Amino acid sequence: MAGIGLSGVTKTYPGGVTAVDGLDLTVHDGEFFALLGPSGCGKTTLLRTIAGLEQASAGTVSIGDRDVTRLAPGQRDVAMVFQDYALFPHMTVLDNIAYPLRVKRIPRAARHDRAREVGAGLDLADLMARRPAELSGGQQQRVALARAVVAHPKAFLFDEPLSNLDARLRLSARTFLKRLQRDLGITTVFVTHDQAEALAMADRIAVMDAGRIRQVGTPREVFGRPATSFVAHFIGSTPMNLLDATVTGGRLTLAAGTLPCPADLPDDTRVTVGIRPEYLTYSKDPVEDALAGTVGIVEHLGSSSLVTLETDGAAPVGVVVEEGAEPEPGTRGWAVPRPGRVLLYRAGGGDLL
Ligand code: ATP
Repeated sequence: MAGIGLSGVTKTYPGGVTAVDGLDLTVHDGEFFALLGPSGCGKTTLLRTIAGLEQASAGTVSIGDRDVTRLAPGQRDVAMVFQDYALFPHMTVLDNIAYPLRVKRIPRAARHDRAREVGAGLDLADLMARRPAELSGGQQQRVALARAVVAHPKAFLFDEPLSNLDARLRLSARTFLKRLQRDLGITTVFVTHDQAEALAMADRIAVMDAGRIRQVGTPREVFGRPATSFVAHFIGSTPMNLLDATVTGGRLTLAAGTLPCPADLPDDTRVTVGIRPEYLTYSKDPVEDALAGTVGIVEHLGSSSLVTLETDGAAPVGVVVEEGAEPEPGTRGWAVPRPGRVLLYRAGGGDLL
């Protein structure tokens, strides 16, 4: 078993910044786990604390059944892949891949055999004699992965390993990395600020903000039922509509119209209504139980478009409309929520009700 356990982990830097704040987390054996959150929320610090590159100020870190809190990075049996790959520029691809085995004092012939075998599996057989500067970004990434795989670590720790790749290569690298991880079955923690990447790759996701975890769940859970309006706003390629509303007689009154209230709440309760633009159906004609507005900006997303309905003085409402069905700017439009897709949050940036 090589799950990862964090209990009450806090990391305060010497300057006084608390980057990770009393965090509890369990990553299961063999799981592909994404740490997601905005810049500065503490993702990299948390990963480095698991790796032993930072010492936790409080709390414990365990890998498998070992408490590794006080162990040096080399004793933790984890492999970390950094954003810039951190390859040794003066070494060949072969020596780069074999490096972790050299550290373990494996004899030269044996470590080269093993490095060639791993390199061949990652399509690097013809590049073994080159140096990192003579490789493309995607090839360098594969060398960094081969170096991580070669010593059979208990866990992989990835810090935004795809962020230096161009958009197209990034997509194929996602699939490749996911398949590699699944085939090897190695527990993996993957740091990203890209919610689409986390949704596409991870078995489970932790959404972090200000050193704390706001939600842990499967991609379906964090996308479909975000636990707070922060998570709701952060997840999704088009941000969730978060609209002020008041409950009156079992209905929600919003600036753009009224909707049935999906929960039994007393009159005058103020809430934030969360509805994904994908879960609204657009109508050019007036309909009941809908949000109405004037068509503003229409953004083309590819096979669909994001239509913005402007409402007087309140937040606009985004609706995803199929390609070819986009309305004319300036016309009146209505957006009807799909059944079961209206979420309610406590007013003022609160939790799911
Ligand atoms: P990004 O996505 O921008 O890399 P992150 O979520 O990985 O951000 P961290 O790099 O962990 O965030 O930083 C968390 C907080 O800790 C930030 O406020 C950052 O300024 C601070 N911090 C990071 N490293 C240090 C350091 N060595 N000394 C002092 N403060 C630090």
